Parts: sequence; structure tokens; C-alpha cells
Amino acid sequence: MNLILLGAPGAGKGTQAELLSKKLGIPAVSTGNILREAIRNGTQIGNIAKEYMDHGKLVPDDVIIRIVRDRVSRKDCVAGFILDGVPRTIHQAQGLERMRVPIDHVISIEIDDSVIEKRMTGRRVCSRCGASYHIVANPPRTEGVCNACGSELITRADDKAETVRHRLEIFHGETEPLKDYYVHQGKLCLVQGDASIEEANEAILMAIGVQP
Ligand code: AMP
Repeated sequence: MNLILLGAPGAGKGTQAELLSKKLGIPAVSTGNILREAIRNGTQIGNIAKEYMDHGKLVPDDVIIRIVRDRVSRKDCVAGFILDGVPRTIHQAQGLERMRVPIDHVISIEIDDSVIEKRMTGRRVCSRCGASYHIVANPPRTEGVCNACGSELITRADDKAETVRHRLEIFHGETEPLKDYYVHQGKLCLVQGDASIEEANEAILMAIGVQP
């Protein structure tokens, strides 16, 4: 099954993608995580992406399309994948279509901007593996330490209040039109993102026809 998770930054896409990945046994493909890893490794793509990301801007579509094409053509995606944070523009969605990877369902996690602004200040990510936590809603077992790999948790540079507001503007301008795009394809399901993590997960599973 090939899935897309749409939603504003901080809507819970990363958390839900990880849960779905475990439940369905298919990988979560997060362009944000791939780009952050590229930055840590100092690759050419990482160097291009850093400027955009630090300012809360979208990385150019051609870079993103190349990353996704490489990632979904790997063996572990044969049985399916969950796209987290991509596509973010109509042009990226068209790029996916050119790759001939059929998308089964598009889940839009719906949440108000005011809730997001509060949420993102509490977000922490693992400096090594990219796992995502929240100091109130989804705290790690040990404060400041990743459950999965034991590395230090950090606040992302692009989670600063001013950058978050800018990212929300970009979301409404560039990414939200994708909802109409996928409504026309009959693939869009809306899920309330201000419920608990478990409730949102259950709603997603029901929307894609999987027993929670
Ligand atoms: P995320 O972890 O999904 O919130 O992404 C963090 C940042 O990475 C975004 O603010 C963008 O700068 C960049 N990014 C991630 N995915 C994409 C994408 N599909 N298109 C453009 N930029 C992206």
C-alpha cells in the first residue's frame, strides 16, 4: 500500500508515519529526515537544502523529486511506503505521477494553526536517527535522550516561533491546494490531528481500511 500523509508542519505526520510503518510493515519516507541526514553528512544535497530549511522555505522541487525517486525505488519499498512531508507542491505531486508509483490513499491531518504554534515549541528530535518526540504529548523515557538510539534530543532550528509562522504560510499557499488535487482523484481522507496520537492513528487506519 502506498500512502501520502499531508498536513501542516507539526500536525503529527512524522509520529503517525512511524506508527503506520510498524503496523503495516512498510517504510516511512520522510523527505525532512532525509534532508537533515544529508546536512549532517555534508553532502551536496545537504549543502543546497540547509539554507532553505533554516529559513523555513521549501527545498526546490527538482531536488525533492530526485530524492523521492531514489528512495522509493529501493527494495524495501516494493510492498509499499508512507510518504511523510512529500509532496508539498502540485509540481512534486506531478513528479510522483511521472514516477508511475500509484498512490492508494492520501491522508490529510487537519489541525488549527494556533494549536500547531503551541505544539512545535515542545517538539524535540533525535540528533542522530531523526525520531520525533514532544515534551508533553510524547515524551522520551529519559528526558533529552532518544528511546530508539540513545542519542541527544534537540530542538530543530526551524521550530522557532517566527520560522514556524513562515512555514505555516507556505503550507497554506503551496501545500494545502494538494487537498483539492487529491479530492479530484478520489483519494483524500481527512483526519482530525488535535485528537490524541492513538485516536488519530485509529482514524487513519479506519480511513485506509485496516483494522486498528
Ligand atoms: P519536515 O521535517 O517535513 O517538517 O521538513 C523540514 C523542512 O525540510 C521543510 O521546512 C523544508 O524546508 C524541507 N522539506 C522537507 N520536505 C520537503 C518537500 N517535500 N518539499 C520541499 N521542502 C521540503
